[in-house]
Amino acid sequence: MRISDALATQRPFFSFEFFPPKDDEGSLRLFESIAALAPLRPAFVSITYGAGGSTRIRTVALAKQIQAEIGLTVVAHVTCIGADRAELRAVFDDLARAGVENVLALRGDPPAGSVFQASPGGFAHASELIAMLRRNYGFCIGAACHPEKHLEAATIEDDLRFLKLKADAGADFLVSQLFFDNSRFFEFERRARAEGIELPILPGLMPITNFAQIQRFVAICGATIPPKLSVEMETRKGDARAVEDLGVAYASMQAIELLEAGVPGIHFYTLNRSPATRAIVSSLLAASAWRPAFAASPSTITSR
Ligand code: FAD
Repeated sequence: MRISDALATQRPFFSFEFFPPKDDEGSLRLFESIAALAPLRPAFVSITYGAGGSTRIRTVALAKQIQAEIGLTVVAHVTCIGADRAELRAVFDDLARAGVENVLALRGDPPAGSVFQASPGGFAHASELIAMLRRNYGFCIGAACHPEKHLEAATIEDDLRFLKLKADAGADFLVSQLFFDNSRFFEFERRARAEGIELPILPGLMPITNFAQIQRFVAICGATIPPKLSVEMETRKGDARAVEDLGVAYASMQAIELLEAGVPGIHFYTLNRSPATRAIVSSLLAASAWRPAFAASPSTITSR
């Protein structure tokens, strides 16, 4: 199914991100997670593209496998890094032949400590990749957005201007970088709308299951951890269960507030693990947090 069609017919909308495993053990864990999360009927699962394009073959293979064997709608991530246009076309040809209908078109990050440089004969910005896709393929195209500004952007105004280029180039929907402060997402959404960006924006949440790991992620992506959350996490240091319990509770509260505010759905960064995401989505389904928002919306199509 095309994500744009799913967005028009399914509310709310849950989706789960996975990365291609490196070895047999990782593969086993991934497929156990997918089996645990599939009954929650995600609108799609997305498969990341390793840093520097390192998982190109595994991303495509996994996308094909999940779609063909498990029957879930797949969004395959593809980045511009380390490939020229012909190499990227080969990846998209392969995905199209396999019947994958949705891609997330990204620029990608340079290796740690270096500055991004476009590959010779490649693309410098995601908007260029999106424009190529729109001209040559029939994919439903997703793009990334950064509620707290992309780290390299000088200002949020610049970043929003470049986000508008992605919308104008033909993106169909946006998935946000992870964030822990909903007020920052709401402000970003307001500014994006003011910029004329009307695409559906899926907020991306990462339940905290390991605080040290999350601190590394936020250093890379620029997300802010609210001081109160940081303090509560620090006091649970050394008690992995307590950290995970708080992570699940906190992400559930974020999701409820977002759904009540009328976001189309929530995208979960699962890190290939199911328990936290399963607990959160199960509680959301039980609480039906979106009902008041969608009941008031003329665009409501269905509710579970
Ligand atoms: P772009 O939109 O190209 O923006 C990158 C920077 O360039 C920004 O600072 C922007 O303001 C600036 N810019 C954009 N256009 C112009 C222009 N015309 N002129 C000047 N400056 C411009 N990375 C992976 O390696 N693999 C993945 O699978 C992956 N999945 C992701 C999924 C999501 C939902 C998100 C949010 C990120 C993901 N990333 C992934 C990380 C992503 O590749 C990085 O955040 C990357 O640094 C930016 O990607 P982008 O597509 O937003 O880039």
